Amino acid sequence: MVRFAAVAAEFGKPGFRSDARGTGSRVPASHRKRPGRNRGGVAISSYAGAPGAGRAASELNRRRFLGALAAATVAGVGGARLVVDPQPQTFAETPPANVATSGPTAPSALLPPPPLSARIPLPGGGALTKIPGQGDLLALTVDDGVNSDVVRAYTQFAKDTGVRLTFFVNGIYKSWTENLEMLRPLVDSGQIQLGNHTWSHPDLTTLPTDQVAQQITRNDEFLKKTYGIGAKPYWRPPYAKRNATVDAVAADLGYTVPTLWSGSLSDSTLITEDYIVKMADQYFTPQSIVIGHLNHLPVTHVYPQLVEIIRDRNLRTVTLNDAFLKTP
Ligand SMILES: [Zn+2]
Repeated sequence: MVRFAAVAAEFGKPGFRSDARGTGSRVPASHRKRPGRNRGGVAISSYAGAPGAGRAASELNRRRFLGALAAATVAGVGGARLVVDPQPQTFAETPPANVATSGPTAPSALLPPPPLSARIPLPGGGALTKIPGQGDLLALTVDDGVNSDVVRAYTQFAKDTGVRLTFFVNGIYKSWTENLEMLRPLVDSGQIQLGNHTWSHPDLTTLPTDQVAQQITRNDEFLKKTYGIGAKPYWRPPYAKRNATVDAVAADLGYTVPTLWSGSLSDSTLITEDYIVKMADQYFTPQSIVIGHLNHLPVTHVYPQLVEIIRDRNLRTVTLNDAFLKTP
């Protein structure tokens, strides 16, 4: 399956579009920075993803590929463009040939959430970065919603596999109203939890306190009005930027749990499918909170690979509400 038409990813270029069709909205400046780990990790698509590639590709082609890559590097060309298949793919539509597994090509549903009785108190005392204790839980948390196709594909992924997800929403994006009909039943059932990621994704540490409050409150009201749910106490500071003042403003509004992460798919910017799978392999570990993004299409092409990693490790996906007792 030919997916990448170029050899290297391009990062953080102003005006860069994520796909030829333009459905990947131009990512606003506010989303170009990446907090957390793996900054600057260069994601060159593996040879298996290069044009005309595949297991049967010839040595000649491999040499040409490497030669082209070397030439681009030598010439100082800032990396060729990463061209992404503009179609999001559902779990069922992803060709089995793409599934990196020697096992069954149609993985069964994921494990159910743990019983209510297994929920633990929130640890408190600062940001939440992982699920305390020993266990088999994986909290996959997915942010922003820049691309409506990606929000839709992730929601379909949940319907197809039973994966439990927490979406940290920026209400400013139309994806949250465009996909309401599909998403609402999963929110109602608790399979997808919504958290507050501010209205429009500013660095809160640069704002006066009244605007910090406005960012959180406006998004809170949007979620209540649109989905009929309260997101408290979970909020995620954009870029993981927070300080004592911001935390205090959020806590006053009932958002007492700044929710960060212990691992990242590193896909707040456009990276290759292979790199996303590599990050999942690295960070899908017991009791981890992993951050991903609803912004670029590549992740929607690797759902079977993500499921395979989760199943191989016998992990149980959870929302934050599945893992923790509700605070009073
Ligand atoms: Zn974000």
